[in-house]
Amino acid sequence: MEGEPAVRRLVVVRGTVQGVGFRPWTVRWATRLGLSGHVRNVGADVVAEVQGQARDVAALLEAMRASPPPLALVREVDVSDIAAIEGAPPGFEVRASESRTAAAVAVPADVATCDACLAEVDDPADRRYGYPFTNCVDCGPRYTIIRSLPYDRSATTMAGFVMCDECRTEYEDPTDRRFHAEPVACGACGPRLTWEGPEIGGPPLAEAVNCLVSGGIVAVKGVGGYHLAVRADDEAAVARLRDRKKRDEKPFAVMVGSLAEARALVGLSDAAEAELTSGRRPIVLAPRRDATRVAPAVAPGSADLGVLLPYSPLHHLLLRGAAQPLVMTSGNRTDEPIAQTAEAARVQLTEIADGFLHHDRPIEVRCDDSVVRAARGTTQVVRRSRGFAPEALALPFVSKIDVLAVGAELKSTVALGSGGSVIASHHLGDLEHLAAYAAFEQAVGHLRSLTGTEPVVIAHDLHPEYLSTKWAMEQELELFGVQHHHAHVASCLVDHGRDGPVIGLAFDGLGFGPDGTLWGGEVLLADLRGAERLAHLRPVPLPGGAAAIRQPWRMALVWAAAAAGEQAAAAVGPQLDPQWRELLALSRSGAAPTTSSAGRLFDAVAALAGGRKTISYEGQAAVEFEAAARAWAEVSPAADTNADAWEGEPGEGPWVLDPSPLVRAALDARATGEPLGAISHVFHRRLAEGLVRVSVRLARREGVAAVALTGGVFQNMVLTELVAEGLAASGLEPLVHRRVPPNDGGISIGQVAIAAATLGRVAG
Ligand code: ZN
Ligand code: ZN
Ligand code: FE
Repeated sequence: MEGEPAVRRLVVVRGTVQGVGFRPWTVRWATRLGLSGHVRNVGADVVAEVQGQARDVAALLEAMRASPPPLALVREVDVSDIAAIEGAPPGFEVRASESRTAAAVAVPADVATCDACLAEVDDPADRRYGYPFTNCVDCGPRYTIIRSLPYDRSATTMAGFVMCDECRTEYEDPTDRRFHAEPVACGACGPRLTWEGPEIGGPPLAEAVNCLVSGGIVAVKGVGGYHLAVRADDEAAVARLRDRKKRDEKPFAVMVGSLAEARALVGLSDAAEAELTSGRRPIVLAPRRDATRVAPAVAPGSADLGVLLPYSPLHHLLLRGAAQPLVMTSGNRTDEPIAQTAEAARVQLTEIADGFLHHDRPIEVRCDDSVVRAARGTTQVVRRSRGFAPEALALPFVSKIDVLAVGAELKSTVALGSGGSVIASHHLGDLEHLAAYAAFEQAVGHLRSLTGTEPVVIAHDLHPEYLSTKWAMEQELELFGVQHHHAHVASCLVDHGRDGPVIGLAFDGLGFGPDGTLWGGEVLLADLRGAERLAHLRPVPLPGGAAAIRQPWRMALVWAAAAAGEQAAAAVGPQLDPQWRELLALSRSGAAPTTSSAGRLFDAVAALAGGRKTISYEGQAAVEFEAAARAWAEVSPAADTNADAWEGEPGEGPWVLDPSPLVRAALDARATGEPLGAISHVFHRRLAEGLVRVSVRLARREGVAAVALTGGVFQNMVLTELVAEGLAASGLEPLVHRRVPPNDGGISIGQVAIAAATLGRVAG
């Protein structure tokens, strides 16, 4: 083959290709194949010019498509012929990046420390021994440090650190693991720890470990913000953290040093272990074992425990030093976003922390830990943040317009749709808090600048009082309102790469309906363009608005009266709350708004069954009610559930599903002294059977074959599994959330899909 004319090709690689080692990978392959040319980042793409024998060039292109670097997501490899350069210099090099507005959506997520880096941190002979910011092309911070594209060191928060000679040599050597690893650093040139707190005269890490070991609470700056850390085995220390953080009962997550330790604390399926050990390193919620190493105050009343593994060298070093599992909870005051800077940490956490372990690598984007719930044989993302954001999700079609979606109000996220994908922000928190609102505005700007998209449409919720809706109204872009539960169903469709139509069971707390009432127990016929309300739970008064959410006893009285009459309500009133008379009068007056909320029905039945009458965190009553059902099912799975869940038949307009039989059954069972677990078990079973029957009937009538289970209520795995099994047994396909949260964190993704499918879908 010697002497054949050389060819030269221009190669554009699109997808998630920056910050994942694509350029060094290309250099290694090209060098091995004897090709010459260069590679560089342009906008969000990787662009290479490659010259050599045709079959060698083809081999490189094949490798780019078939076996790219492990963290890359190659969407397309565009190849065009260009004139070969005679006497081109031999060798292959990385060229300086070119910035350009990129239409592509391509920013890498943060990746947990790889084994090779960890081995160096542990090796006393290595120059990075004990260095808490060790990283390479395969691991380290990305999204949280990127200021703009293209992804180069100068565009990250590492810009201010000048590489030492040794780091620079690694960075410039195509055969090195750190070749163009943008955040590369070592103890001589990179970020450093500082300690602020009581001192024993050691280095910062030793001070922090000492404080932790003696039961202290340490604010630790990590990858996406500060954590509050404390020994998980020390009841008094954990109780102090709860007390100072004013967090009565909401479970804390626990960071453990190894998979073996995680297995000792919780039951893990293969799927849950894969999630736990992945480079994303989320918190995994799994059924807890009767462990002695975790203090009761870590997760009181919860059947699940959230565990996570260390994801930066600093965490590994802390865990080893403390030799104990550590509570690692967001470093914030309740409901505020986590602290991102030393100043914010001091302001927010001075009353809580005994000491601060700071470092000087700035965090560009504050990012909470992601949360994944383990279900039977599978997993479900319930908070999609660090490690996931801002990875693109595929849309089931290609949009010719760019769409910005601003989500809902609680568990806020924003999302951008462009071409065939949607990219959602990290978890922003509850917008009613000023700091979360600031994070919301920052996230919109950051996503726009990272993706280079120019949205022409803003999709928003119909709720006029959501701050996200108000913000959208102030922008000078075309507005597109999306009904809340339609967005939930669409988010589930995106999760499954479908565009419908499906029967959507959208069950959640509250969402604004187009009729101006608060919806939340909805059965929709929906695709990505439209939704029809086929059925819904019977609307009942919601007395006291937000108070009705914090105080489940209110809905318990309302539902007792609705299902069994005022006398029955009066009979249980005194057991629920001294204010029961006033509450009944208020709900009778017609002054309260009405709601078809499934979340509020769960609250009501839980309280009537002897569960929570007031709650200290969102969803607490439902979480404990579910745990009681699960515990009961393990002991006595049989249940007499033959009776119908509903009263009411389909007629004109939407079918009203009246769950009064379920409420009366709970009242009767409580009156005869049945325990909470037994009542909850029967309630879950009957509700699930009722939902399956409704779905089957409506699916047959409408000629659809799949049912989407969505909304915050379907974080309840007992209910989800019962409904999914029942649907499958009836020949319908259940669509259960996997990568997109079923709660309001997924709303922005559903909004993008609906707006783009309606306004910007490319024909064919
Ligand atoms: Zn590494
Ligand atoms: Zn260095
Ligand atoms: Fe919702």
